[in-house]
Amino acid sequence: MSDFFSNLEEVEARIQLACTQSGRPREDVTLVGVSKKHPVERLREAYDAGLRIFGENRVQEALVKMPELPSAIEWHLIGHLQTNKVKPVIHSEFSLIHSVDSEKLLMALEKEAGEQGRVQPVLLQVNVSGEASKFGLSPEALMPLLEKATGCHHLEIQGLMTMPPFTEDPEKAAPHFAALRVLRDRACHQSGFPLPVLSMGMSHDLQVAIREGATHVRVGTDLFGVRKG
Ligand SMILES: *Cc1c(COP(=O)(O)O)cnc(C)c1O
Repeated sequence: MSDFFSNLEEVEARIQLACTQSGRPREDVTLVGVSKKHPVERLREAYDAGLRIFGENRVQEALVKMPELPSAIEWHLIGHLQTNKVKPVIHSEFSLIHSVDSEKLLMALEKEAGEQGRVQPVLLQVNVSGEASKFGLSPEALMPLLEKATGCHHLEIQGLMTMPPFTEDPEKAAPHFAALRVLRDRACHQSGFPLPVLSMGMSHDLQVAIREGATHVRVGTDLFGVRKG
């Protein structure tokens, strides 16, 4: 049995426990395996162990990996996206883009999806902590962007994503996760978008995130091991 398989079992057990503790069904939470910086062989091992959703943070790297792996895989783009990469991104049919963080990017995706005759599922990334080093919209910018998005018929805004500052104690991330949930609830109410998806929680804080309402956890290190470089 591959070490990936036992890593996956451990992560699964943690997700299951967090769901049980917060009275949520396991199906509420989608595991996105973050495969960035790992070679294709390692992703194939992950696929053989049963992982079906892979998250990559660089467009170029994802485009190289995609044709090498089974088409049953769903690819998620989780990293910062520049508007000049929008064409290949829409073309390669990522099943979810987690990282829309500006009006310019939103409009570029809408235009390109329209030209390619697609509807692209996306999340809006919000910087709830205000930490300067993180990408993401300010919480105040969310409502105006959602208003703009009502005219985007080639995008499906499924929800919100956040990445809190790293803290040794995962419990310290809880207020940031809760803030995203509260922001989502308010935005839902004001905009009429359903916004069911909350993408939050990574290797060390996924249980806290699930307790605070995460529907998607993005797990790299605890599945694939420590990344080089
Ligand atoms: C790398 C990355 C992750 C995974 O982080 P781990 O701590 O390795 O689980 C999750 N989300 C985003 C946006 C990332 O860039």
